[in-house]
Amino acid sequence: MSDGVADPVKESSNQTFDLVIIGGGMVGASLALSLADSGLKIAVVDQQSLSPAPSDDTTPYAARVSALTEASVNLFQQLGAWPLMQSQRVCPYSKMYVWDAEGTGDIAFDADEINHSHLGHIVENDVIRSALLDRLSQTGIELFSGQSSIDCQLNDELHTVTLGDATPQKKFQKKLQAKLLIATDGAESGLRKQAGIPSSQRDYLHHAVVTTVETEAYHQDTAWQVFLDTGPLAFLPLPSREGRHYCSIVWSLIPDQAQRVLGLEDEAFCSELERALECRLGKVVNADDRYCFPLKQRHSRQYHRNRVVVAGDSAHTIHPLAGQGVNLGLQDVMALSEEISRAVSRGDDFAADYILNRYERRRMGSNLLMMKSMEGLQNLFAADDIGIRWLRNTGLKVTNRFSFVKKQLIRQAMGL
Ligand SMILES: Cc1cc2nc3c(=O)[nH]c(=O)nc-3n(C[C@H](O)[C@H](O)[C@H](O)COP(=O)(O)OP(=O)(O)OC[C@H]3O[C@@H](n4cnc5c(N)ncnc54)[C@H](O)[C@@H]3O)c2cc1C
Repeated sequence: MSDGVADPVKESSNQTFDLVIIGGGMVGASLALSLADSGLKIAVVDQQSLSPAPSDDTTPYAARVSALTEASVNLFQQLGAWPLMQSQRVCPYSKMYVWDAEGTGDIAFDADEINHSHLGHIVENDVIRSALLDRLSQTGIELFSGQSSIDCQLNDELHTVTLGDATPQKKFQKKLQAKLLIATDGAESGLRKQAGIPSSQRDYLHHAVVTTVETEAYHQDTAWQVFLDTGPLAFLPLPSREGRHYCSIVWSLIPDQAQRVLGLEDEAFCSELERALECRLGKVVNADDRYCFPLKQRHSRQYHRNRVVVAGDSAHTIHPLAGQGVNLGLQDVMALSEEISRAVSRGDDFAADYILNRYERRRMGSNLLMMKSMEGLQNLFAADDIGIRWLRNTGLKVTNRFSFVKKQLIRQAMGL
């Protein structure tokens, strides 16, 4: 004690779990809920609060939203979280319109073509997470949040997660021990790195500018996406309020352009957006605060190692142009929870390599396929070559005419 101040009293407590989930975002919270009836003793740890924070009619729309597929909504139904999301706010959309600003190609998808009432739902990430946390609080799963430090120590028998907390008077330490750790701590997953799970990474050289905008015209229950020479721009429908119409936008741009539009005055920003969307929704009346996310493709070359498993963004991230990121993470949740629950019900070791290999086999191929498709799509629309431009415009027009191909694409995009 160099400064002569007495070391604060240390207190510690130990608890043992079957598995601990590090990261209670949309994927981690869904996984915990999916395993709530498995008979396993489970804990979820997060740096952020794990208390539900429901939105109501007066809460402004959050900038981060997800386009949820039918498959993801079905999962939330099973978990009992969907009615809670609906009671806050969700926006079904029944059409999608995609076009190439540099040509004449376009394609329109309509839920009617497959006799569905909608193609998907746009839901704010905060609404999704809050509903999941609400349901989690009604289970026996233990939730730990708000610690000053979270340290994972990986061991042969039981891993240890040390949660630190300090007040000026005391230092508390909780040690959670578990046979299996699941990393759902997001794209920069510290646990994945600590477990030595290798991950490949490719910079898309795009930043996504996101915000909520009010538009003059109603969005017609349509998700709009235009491929500009600078990158894709999406207008995703949100519920209208008091006769005013809203969309969430995701505008992918090279980093310099992203910085430029972030710095524009509100009026100039709205005018530029309006022009980029070719005024399809009339004037962009105003825009909320803007946020920017660098976009990277990442993929873990293994989905588990030494009883540490990765899922969701900890395992893979892709370009948001087709709105599939969290949908893939939720499919990881379905596969992983099924494999673990089945092992438990058979009396097998749920943390054994052969059980976790099954999860990896079920998910890695699909995740890679989606990643490669997004890469291909991004390259196709980024290409300046006249031949490729002709090809993509013709491709859009031809696909638009073939209803069988379109139906397959719709079913694929809905995760059916
Ligand atoms: C601009 C943009 C638009 C997108 N649009 C869509 C879309 O329309 N549809 C779609 O499907 N996907 C979309 N995505 C992708 C989607 O947002 C992500 O796939 C999703 O958020 C991943 O969820 P997650 O739970 O895996 O990770 P995260 O949401 O990153 O959650 C990680 C959690 O872990 C916690 N955490 C972090 N570090 C630690 C630690 N050391 N210890 C404990 N806890 C920790 C965090 O607090 C957080 O709660 C989009 C992404 C971007 C960038």
